[in-house]
Amino acid sequence: MDRVERIFRQAGAVLEGHFLLTSGRHSPVYWEKMRVLQQPRLTTRLCRPITHHFRNQGVEVVVGPTMGGVPLAFEVARQLGVRSAYADREGDGRIIRGGQLLAPGEKVLIIDDILTTGGSLRHMVDAVDRVGAKVVGIAVIVDRRPGGDTQFTVGDTPVFASHRSPAPSYPPEECPLCKTAVPLEKLGGKR
Ligand SMILES: [Zn+2]
Repeated sequence: MDRVERIFRQAGAVLEGHFLLTSGRHSPVYWEKMRVLQQPRLTTRLCRPITHHFRNQGVEVVVGPTMGGVPLAFEVARQLGVRSAYADREGDGRIIRGGQLLAPGEKVLIIDDILTTGGSLRHMVDAVDRVGAKVVGIAVIVDRRPGGDTQFTVGDTPVFASHRSPAPSYPPEECPLCKTAVPLEKLGGKR
């Protein structure tokens, strides 16, 4: 068990059952990141591998999506000694708003918690592109794509993952758990 999984298990955040993921897919495993992110000390430890990986890459701003990405962006920015910002949902995409300073050309590290399909990361890259800032890196805490030992990229930016935990997930119409009596749980809400 590596450091990230130990932190999640310590927080009681690795759940088993039948879950609706943010992507709309169903899965027997759910990593409830909010149970970790509620604890600043665990969040500090969780962010260290990312800070270490990006410390010499000239990052000026760390940007994460609401909600889970807010404490992660804050903590990675604190460790790197740079600014943080967040992107809200807007329609199906993301937007950086609310008086946050993010200048054209600034070097941005995007951070998110769990990578399942990458849809959320694409929206984040679009949001950063729209203000003219430059994405120099993308990081996630957990890459849980099934068969996820291939390098995932958004555009031509590789995604750095602190931890890989490939877990099965299914479109609802193909979900084997839906054919059993295990009730579907929706956790985390729409982020
Ligand atoms: Zn299901």
